[in-house]
Amino acid sequence: MPSEFDIIRHYFTSKQSRADVILGIGDDAAILKVPEQHELVQSVDTLVAGVHFPLETSPQDIGYKALAVNLSDIAAMGAEPAWFTLAISLPEANETWLKAFSEGLSSLAKEYNVQLVGGDTTNGPLTISITINGFVATGKALTRHSAKVGDKIYVSGMLGDAALALMQWQGQCIVQNESLAYLRERLNRPTARVELGLLLRDYASSCIDISDGLLADLGHITERSSVGATINFEDIPRSEAFNLNLTDEALITPLVLAGGDDYELCFTIPLHKQSEFKTLIKEKNISVICIGEIEETLGVRCINNNKLVDIKDMGYQHFTN
Ligand code: ADP
Ligand code: MG
Repeated sequence: MPSEFDIIRHYFTSKQSRADVILGIGDDAAILKVPEQHELVQSVDTLVAGVHFPLETSPQDIGYKALAVNLSDIAAMGAEPAWFTLAISLPEANETWLKAFSEGLSSLAKEYNVQLVGGDTTNGPLTISITINGFVATGKALTRHSAKVGDKIYVSGMLGDAALALMQWQGQCIVQNESLAYLRERLNRPTARVELGLLLRDYASSCIDISDGLLADLGHITERSSVGATINFEDIPRSEAFNLNLTDEALITPLVLAGGDDYELCFTIPLHKQSEFKTLIKEKNISVICIGEIEETLGVRCINNNKLVDIKDMGYQHFTN
């Protein structure tokens, strides 16, 4: 049986070595250097086995996803990710599991050059909590509270894939074999839109990452900004795999509007920045799509086929079933 210290040494020693880490793992706390004229941006997200991922998820994917969802929060703030800490509760010290978990985690850490600088290792039901830190030039962070009437609403990527993958996993629907790998990847290895977040700093008036579903998360922007929104269902991007496997409108609508776990960005662009923004995304070949507009009337509305969609009960809420 490896000791707690063996586990830390073998599996949680960072492979990155950033110059701004004055002191990393091994002391009582890490010492980190935020660049001059920048602000620290910090977020924490916890994944509980069986709640935030199916129990059978591979350890590589669990490691990957735990960091990806945190990177997504940093992306939504328009910040540059730099360091993270890992608080992990393990039911047993299974070295095969730990090796695979740390591979999944460190592959993504390497991709974004974020360094593991500390953590806590405990014994208990499998729970992974990552605190991520990034930085942004003073005053430049993207927030939820500054959308304005007339701003256009955009989303990155496709919505509904992760929710469809979860439904299939739970045996609630069948998907074609050729779609399965793509959909599982969307659920287990979400892409944090870090580069997009950085670009948006000069354009977006507000931004959020879609973790709980489009309606719920856009609802956070409208509430915090004291505005409302109308979105057009037909404009919301869906993947080929999604369209191929789901034809029942009664399922499509809630998955696209309220399916969680896609980790795409939803953001608003003021009218006067519209044309410059459109040129930029074309130039950089970034796939984002305008799905609606910020309005004065409070609340979020969705139009499909010229009709108002009944969106009652579509926002996912923790602690309710
Ligand atoms: P302390 O008792 O002072 O909190 P610990 O024994 O918990 O110290 O941890 C020793 C060192 O290992 C600390 O620097 C801590 O940040 C680091 N550490 C512990 N668990 C992890 C982990 N899961 N991932 C990364 N670093 C860890
Ligand atoms: Mg400790």
